[in-house]
Amino acid sequence: FAKQNSRGQIVIYSAEHEKAIRQRSFVETELKNADLEKELTLAFQPIFDQRNGKVAAVEALARWSKDGVQFSPDVFIRQAERCGMMGKLTEVLLSKALRAARAWPDEVSLSFNLSAADIGSEHTMAKIVEMVTNSRFPAHRITFEITETSIVRDFDQAEAMLLKLKELGAKIALDDFGTGFSSLSYLQRLPFDRVKLDQSFVATIEHDPKTQSIVRSVIRLVRELGISVVAEGIENKAQRNLLLEMDCRLMQGFLLSRPISSGDLLAIFRNNGASTAECEEPPVPSV
Ligand code: C2E
Ligand code: MG
Ligand code: MG
Ligand code: MG
Repeated sequence: FAKQNSRGQIVIYSAEHEKAIRQRSFVETELKNADLEKELTLAFQPIFDQRNGKVAAVEALARWSKDGVQFSPDVFIRQAERCGMMGKLTEVLLSKALRAARAWPDEVSLSFNLSAADIGSEHTMAKIVEMVTNSRFPAHRITFEITETSIVRDFDQAEAMLLKLKELGAKIALDDFGTGFSSLSYLQRLPFDRVKLDQSFVATIEHDPKTQSIVRSVIRLVRELGISVVAEGIENKAQRNLLLEMDCRLMQGFLLSRPISSGDLLAIFRNNGASTAECEEPPVPSV
């Protein structure tokens, strides 16, 4: 794929590259013209406590669809970060999440994802603190999930922001744990309450003895630091049983429940938070 630019130079780029650029500017234009209050919604995915089969927490996952087109959060969140709109998205999403969570049983907490752009912005963080303070949902029932990317950019800034959330009474989880490079030193230096073991480990755990050793050791190590562990991406019973044997109690994944609508979540609560773990087929996604 080669083109001549206005100065007569040959610019070479791949079709893939061009496609990516076109997609990016398309998403950006759509984002800028979006009615975020209306178009942004949340799907809710329960995190089950396998000791009693009940819902311990629920993760709010952003959904955006426009004129029947669903954008993946991996795509539109990255684009919102790039064009400086993430703060606005986070405000809309957090407000919706806090509102929804007020209808949940007292023992169920809310997990809410923050992006690197959120952690890097004093303004967004101040807004988050203000929203949580003014909401009728108690801060101690909120866990903010952050990934290593937020920490790598500016450690001191990240530390200051996490301490602000801790002062509020909220909890902090390190998401996608194990995919980065220096997670262990972060566990030592930052006040994490929870670690979410990345789904790539769970995906290979059945057939790879090395993964089993790593996961077993990580669970033990993290626990010894007084930090709880959630295994993400449980898709079959073999994975669940292996993790149970490793004494991992908190699990999230399609086997247990897909991300669902707020109404379907309330139905699970009405069934006394009973786990759907015994389903042979994962429930059909409703979101
Ligand atoms: P994440 O926070 O690690 O969320 C877990 C992702 O794994 C979700 O994808 C979820 O639907 C998916 N998942 C859950 N169980 C399974 C399973 O058993 N198998 C497989 N293959 N996948 C599973 P989703 O909703 O597409 O979100 C992708 C990412 O986008 C999230 O990863 C998070 O980093 C980001 N994201 C989503 N919502 C928000 C948000 O409100 N704010 C921010 N900043 N980021 C968000
Ligand atoms: Mg998450
Ligand atoms: Mg994750
Ligand atoms: Mg992720």
